Amino acid sequence: MKKLSLITETFTESVIREMTRICDAVKGYNLSQGFPDFPAEEIIKKAAINAITKDYNQYPVTFGEPNLRLAIADKFLWYNGVKINPDTDITVTCGATEAMIATLKAVINPGDEVIIFEPFYENYGPDAILSGAKPRYVTLYSPDWHYNPKELRSAFNSKTKAIIINTPNNPTGKVFSKQELQEIAELCMRWDCLAITDEIYEHIIYDGAKHISIAALPGMRNRSITINSISKTYSVTGWRVGWAIASTDITSRIRKVHDFLTVGAPTPFQEAAAFALRLPKSYYEKLQKRYVDSRKFLYDLLLETGFGPCFPKGAYYIIAEIESLKRKLKVRDDFSFSRKLIELTRVATVPGSSFYADKRKGRNQVRFCFCKCKDTLLKVSKGLRKLKKL
Ligand code: GLN
Repeated sequence: MKKLSLITETFTESVIREMTRICDAVKGYNLSQGFPDFPAEEIIKKAAINAITKDYNQYPVTFGEPNLRLAIADKFLWYNGVKINPDTDITVTCGATEAMIATLKAVINPGDEVIIFEPFYENYGPDAILSGAKPRYVTLYSPDWHYNPKELRSAFNSKTKAIIINTPNNPTGKVFSKQELQEIAELCMRWDCLAITDEIYEHIIYDGAKHISIAALPGMRNRSITINSISKTYSVTGWRVGWAIASTDITSRIRKVHDFLTVGAPTPFQEAAAFALRLPKSYYEKLQKRYVDSRKFLYDLLLETGFGPCFPKGAYYIIAEIESLKRKLKVRDDFSFSRKLIELTRVATVPGSSFYADKRKGRNQVRFCFCKCKDTLLKVSKGLRKLKKL
């Protein structure tokens, strides 16, 4: 048989999704994959059911139903402060996942470099490779996950096509400050490159911090591609409705890639998404309140049971150091630690190395998510407390 695609030999399966399979097999508590285990809001579910009943059941407009694009544009103005044209500047995709790969496919040429902050959400590495770009990593240093401005500056060069930003950040919980985004924006302008910004956790942000879109900064409107989705904000990760906002020029390229990749995101869920995006501000306050409580619960629990958690400022993940627990459990790396942890406590995590290109950097870390209901978190606490008795 002829050799299969060489490109697919250069990356592995998603560890996050693999951990979910392992967790399901032992009926464990899934603190690995970031999806809520509590029900979505009744009114949002009703909106999807109504759309199906009203026969929104055929292909959508390939780049997004007009009703949804209008709702996206309205919300981007009130929450992010950027005015866009819903007819020309939005592509609705199958989740933020497709928005990211379609964007990269639309802008990358062979030999282009893409800057990625490390640790990073594990899709970005393979996304860059699949689109033919060479990833260049810039370290975020714990516990506050700052970058070194000198290192950032030296990552840019004439081959740099884009930088990927994810704020609030998965897996670190970092929220990029205005000053940091301004610094990145200046580098993008100096080196004539794009900011591809994944803002899927924009409403999951704590302690009065403010979400800032780099697209709102002077000179960045046409240099930014802002990616988002309904998955995390409205707790419907299985609906697969996301989007990319970009200048008309870039959007026309993204739309072509998207059309041939997937044709469109599910029509009835696009209608429900349009409804959700028009919910009042009180919806987002309620969401934040829920996550403030579960963040505190999990953070305290991890401290108590021997982990070294980093307190997140946004998103719904906690990275925790496992150095001393590794010794206690007599395991050598993050993978064997995660396997042993499921075995002992039925709690599933993501091994830290999945978030690094240089796998050694994540050997002493695991990632937990806390987007789970009180009952699950209580069961998790029972499980993790077993570690104290070892
Ligand atoms: N963003 C989620 C996580 O990091 C998972 C997304 C996915 O699996 N598609 O866990």
